[in-house]
Amino acid sequence: MVITGKCACAKVQYQVSAELIDFSHCHCSICRKIHGAAFASWGGIARDKFTYLSGEDSIKSYAFSENSDSIFCSNCSSTLLVDYKPDKEMLYVAMGAVDGNVNCPPGFHEFVGSKAPWFEISDDLPQYNAAIDAD
Ligand SMILES: [Zn+2]
Ligand SMILES: [Zn+2]
Repeated sequence: MVITGKCACAKVQYQVSAELIDFSHCHCSICRKIHGAAFASWGGIARDKFTYLSGEDSIKSYAFSENSDSIFCSNCSSTLLVDYKPDKEMLYVAMGAVDGNVNCPPGFHEFVGSKAPWFEISDDLPQYNAAIDAD
C-alpha cells in the first residue's frame, strides 16, 4: 500500500511506500500548539519508506525540543511530520495531511495529562497519562 499526503497549498507532497506502524492521538501542549487543535494524530512510518514527491525546497523545520523537529510547509504552514531524531527507524506523519483513507493500527491517546481542559476524550481507546508541556 502507498500512502500519500500533502500540505494545504499542495506545494509539498510526499509518499510512503508502507503501512502505518503506529497511530497515536497526542494531547501534549506542543502538538496542540503546532496543530492549533485539541490534539494531534500521528502515523508512525518506517523512515526509509518516506519520500518527497515535490516541494522539498518549501520545507522548514522547527526544533521544539532538543531531539524533535516539527517539519512544515513554509508557504502554508501545514505541519507534515515530526522527526524524533534519536529514532533512526521511524518518522511520524501528521494524519491530517494524509490523503484519503489508510489502514491504521489500533489508536491510543498519549500525554493525556497535558490535555486541553475544554476537550473531553469520548472514545474507549487506551490513554497514557504522562504530561509534557511546552510552557
Ligand atoms: Zn503548503
Ligand atoms: Zn505531542
